[in-house]
Amino acid sequence: MGKLDSKIPSGPLAEKWTKHKNEINLVNPANKRNIDIIVVGTGLAGGSAAASLAELGYNVKTFCYQDSPRRAHSIAAQGGVNASKNYQGDGDSDYRLFYDTIKGGDYRSREANVYRLAEVSSNIIDQCVAQGVPFAREYGGLLDNRSFGGVLVSRTFYAKGQTGQQLLLGAYGAMNRQINRGKIKSYTRHEMLDLVLVDGKARGIIARDLVSGEIERHSAHAVVIASGGYGNLFFLSTYCMGANVMAAWRTHKKGAFFANPCFTQIHPTCIPVSGDHQSKLTLMSESLRNDGRIWVPKKLEDAKAIREGRLKPTELAEEDRDYYLERRYPAFGNLVPRDVASRAAKERCDAGYGVNKTGEAVYLDFTAAIERYGKEKAYTMGLKDANKDTIRKLGEEIVEAKYGNLFQMYEKIVDENPYKTPMMIYPAVHYTMGGLWVDYNLMTTIPGCYSAGESNFSDHGANRLGASALMQGLADGYFVLPYTIGDYLADDIRTGPIPTDSAEFDEAEQAVTDKLNRLISIKGENTVDYYHKKLGKIMWDKCGMSRNEKGLKEAIKEIAELREDFWKNVRVPGEANAKNQELEKAGRVADFLEIGELFAMDALDRKESCGGHFREEYQTPEGEALRDDKNYRYVSAWEYKGEPKNSKLHKEELVFENVELKTRSYK
Ligand SMILES: Cc1cc2nc3c(=O)[nH]c(=O)nc-3n(C[C@H](O)[C@H](O)[C@H](O)COP(=O)(O)OP(=O)(O)OC[C@H]3O[C@@H](n4cnc5c(N)ncnc54)[C@H](O)[C@@H]3O)c2cc1C
Repeated sequence: MGKLDSKIPSGPLAEKWTKHKNEINLVNPANKRNIDIIVVGTGLAGGSAAASLAELGYNVKTFCYQDSPRRAHSIAAQGGVNASKNYQGDGDSDYRLFYDTIKGGDYRSREANVYRLAEVSSNIIDQCVAQGVPFAREYGGLLDNRSFGGVLVSRTFYAKGQTGQQLLLGAYGAMNRQINRGKIKSYTRHEMLDLVLVDGKARGIIARDLVSGEIERHSAHAVVIASGGYGNLFFLSTYCMGANVMAAWRTHKKGAFFANPCFTQIHPTCIPVSGDHQSKLTLMSESLRNDGRIWVPKKLEDAKAIREGRLKPTELAEEDRDYYLERRYPAFGNLVPRDVASRAAKERCDAGYGVNKTGEAVYLDFTAAIERYGKEKAYTMGLKDANKDTIRKLGEEIVEAKYGNLFQMYEKIVDENPYKTPMMIYPAVHYTMGGLWVDYNLMTTIPGCYSAGESNFSDHGANRLGASALMQGLADGYFVLPYTIGDYLADDIRTGPIPTDSAEFDEAEQAVTDKLNRLISIKGENTVDYYHKKLGKIMWDKCGMSRNEKGLKEAIKEIAELREDFWKNVRVPGEANAKNQELEKAGRVADFLEIGELFAMDALDRKESCGGHFREEYQTPEGEALRDDKNYRYVSAWEYKGEPKNSKLHKEELVFENVELKTRSYK
């Protein structure tokens, strides 16, 4: 265990995956029936993996903490899923999707994995259409596309602003077919608390039934961790409230390396924070940047007047508005990648141009799109002399058809009509590119333990492009794992069922029970949320959109102190062996308090800026991220050594043979 071998197949980039599939071991259908696989997580990655593995004939057990796989965080995905089908005939190709992803991730991802992702992306759309996913269609019936940031083509397939929900219903349907056949046994309201290793191999998990509080042992020949991202360590984020790092972190503590923990995505278009009472932030999909123009006032006095309610944005003349993304990045305009757009918003707000009461918001304005669409519609209807009101009405109808549910959500939260006045938006934590280190087969450094979807680090480097998370999760689950896991399991056809009455299971169960009892017995003074909020503030202030050496060193110290205090003073009411949501939260926050420290250590180690990792000391004169390819062209893979501060850094050198390493420019 512990050696970093990325197992990238040899040969030309575009042939690696086919060659690999042709060469790896297979398990014959009769033998698959004797092999058990545990899949932790039933979002898009885990759900698609479980359904495909069961369809192949393996016996699958799935686990999720929600009451149904349908409630995984994946359901929240709004904007779409990418695929290089080139339906628009606008020059797309597998290579372009590969190139955009590598460049978008600021040259910090593995070429071979990213090319495979692009290669299988088209299959995802076919698979989901076959499942009945209602992707948006053009008038003639062909699937429609829109654009997302960091690209110059339209390759995003979508189902209004509910793409994740529709895709998840597809995966859930596929899972249900297997549940009905008895090939998937679905454990909902179950939380994995530990991974069990036997002879160095992943052979099962310890899970807690969240309804009864009972601790259970489950064995398998392989374990797939598809437990999503860890952005909730910032407390406020666009993630669902329950999203956490427990499964991945405890796997890490059992020997799986954790890669690039500091690579976090801060999404530019979220509803701004409105006060201390908040526990959740809401995303306004990136798809809105297809039609919305981002601006702040040009003059400081106008920004002040807007903040103080003396001036309305709609009253500000066109020449007094600064469409700063269009000004700074004429080629990509409002569709620059998320890290670039987020930093640009922060820069304007820090300079005093913010437009809400706290000064931390910019406008996302649909006026121009409404007018453009309205004019076009009037023209096609033969209304040559349509007046302004008619044009507006027609335009609003088109915008509503494209983004209606997002506009409705905005109005419900902010109590302003975004058709009439520009939306206010600000960056918020949204996605984690870091995760369990995996090789080309998606196996972690623990034999037999795999990771898929957002819980692994695999494809997005230092910044994920919009609509690529769904693509990666579904690629991993439908098209990668079903092949690669067989290569490993081919050696297990004679192993027989893994017993759970072994010393390894005893020990793991005891450790889990002790930890739960310890949390209950502290009986301190502070709630779990007290610690979570404090951690979130340290993370946002010192490890957020921009970082510096001093702040990171402070963060490391403060997080360690906070963790110590947590274990002395947290109050977890109730019992360990009964339903106890505060106990669930305590376990999750305990893990956040550990990964937070590693996150800051990783950010401190990386003395360069790349993608979402912006070190203030390393920037160009124009304020762009300044990479150091000579010294930091590696994946950081951290090995756990008893405490976060003792973690050992391993480096996977990234080799670029098919793209030229260039300064990332969107101008
Ligand atoms: C608001 C929003 C909008 C988004 N829109 C888009 C978009 O338009 N396009 C795009 O590509 N991406 C989008 N993303 C990102 C994308 O939705 C996620 O990255 C992706 O859905 C993650 O899928 P996943 O299967 O890896 O994890 P999840 O969907 O987070 O699923 C995690 C699963 O793991 C389970 N789990 C976790 N821990 C445990 C444990 N200890 N024990 C048992 N089970 C556990 C959970 O119950 C759940 O089933 C969006 C994200 C957000 C927040």
